[in-house]
Amino acid sequence: MREQLEKIKEEALKQIEASDALEKLNDIRVAYLGKKGELTSVLKSMKEVSPEERPKVGQMVNDARALIEAKLEETKTVLARKAREEQMKREVIDVTLPAKKSNVGHSHPNTIALEEVERIFVGMGYEVVEGPEVEYDLYNFEKLNIPANHPAKDEQDTFYINKDIVLRTQTSPVQVRSMEQGKLPIRMIAPGRVFRSDEVDATHSPSFHQIEGLVIDRNITFADLKGTLAEFAKELFGPETKVKFRPHHFPFTEPSAEVDVTCFKCGGSGCRFCKGSGWIEILGCGMVHPHVLEMSGIDSEEYSGFAFGVGLERIALLKYEIDDMRLLYENDIRFLKQF
Ligand SMILES: [Zn+2]
Repeated sequence: MREQLEKIKEEALKQIEASDALEKLNDIRVAYLGKKGELTSVLKSMKEVSPEERPKVGQMVNDARALIEAKLEETKTVLARKAREEQMKREVIDVTLPAKKSNVGHSHPNTIALEEVERIFVGMGYEVVEGPEVEYDLYNFEKLNIPANHPAKDEQDTFYINKDIVLRTQTSPVQVRSMEQGKLPIRMIAPGRVFRSDEVDATHSPSFHQIEGLVIDRNITFADLKGTLAEFAKELFGPETKVKFRPHHFPFTEPSAEVDVTCFKCGGSGCRFCKGSGWIEILGCGMVHPHVLEMSGIDSEEYSGFAFGVGLERIALLKYEIDDMRLLYENDIRFLKQF
C-alpha cells in the first residue's frame, strides 16, 4: 500500500511537471484526484488495511493529495502567466496608428419635436395612445361625422386598400377607438403617421405625422381648450407667446377654430418669417361634436370634450426654421447633422 501510494505520487508529479498547457493539468486532476481517480481508489481499498494501520495510511493518502494539489496549483499559475505573456507578444498595439472614427447618430428633427410635444402633454396628465395606420373607413371618416358624400372627404382623398379600408388620413380615428372603450374621463394625445394623396412640394407630402389631442370629462368647456393650448404654446415657443383663435369648420368639432401663435422671431411685430403678420398658424381644434360623442356611445348631455390636431412636421419646421418639408425626408446627413 505504501509503495503503491509512493508510485502514484511520483507519477502524478512527473506528469504535472511535463504539462505545457492548462487543459492538461485538468486531465491530470481528474485522473488522480477525481471520483474515479487513482488516489480515490486507494481510499476505497482501505477496508483491506488492518485497523491499526488505517490512520497511518489515511494520513499518507491525505499528504499525497495535498502535495499533488499544491503542485497542480503552482504549475497552473506558471502556465497562466506564460500564456498571458505570449498573448501580449502577439497583440502588439501600435499607438501611433490613427484611430477609427466612430459616428454617433442622433434623433431626427421630427423625433425631437415629437418628444418635446409628448413631454408637455404628459406633464399635463395626458396619456400617449397609438392606433393602426391601416384603418377602417368607418373610423377614419364616418364616426368622425364625415359621411360618404361629405366634401371634407374629397380634401383628404386618400389611399384605399379596398372600399372599407384606407391608409388613415388623420390620427383622429385613434380618438374614436379610445372613446369606444368607454373609460372616462379621457385625456390623451395620439401621435402617428398619416397618408393623403398629396403632391410633394415644400409644404405637402403624401405621408406625414399628426398629433391629436382629446379630453372628455364632465363640464369641459371652450375655456379649458383655450387654457390648455395657450399653455402648450408657451411651453413650446417661449413664455411670451400669445394665442389667437380664428373661427373655422371641422366636421367633428363644434365650434371649431384654427389657432395662431405670436411669431417667436419678432414677437408679433411682423417679420419675414411670419410674412409680416406677426402670427403663425399652428393647429386646428374645437369642442367635440355631440354627434361624434353619441356615435361612440358617450352621453353628450353628461359629457363634453375638446380635441385638437397639430402637424408634427409643422412644429419641427417652425422650431428649427426649416423652409422646406422635403428636407425632413431626404435623409441627407449634411442636413440632419445640424440638429
Ligand atoms: Zn415674425
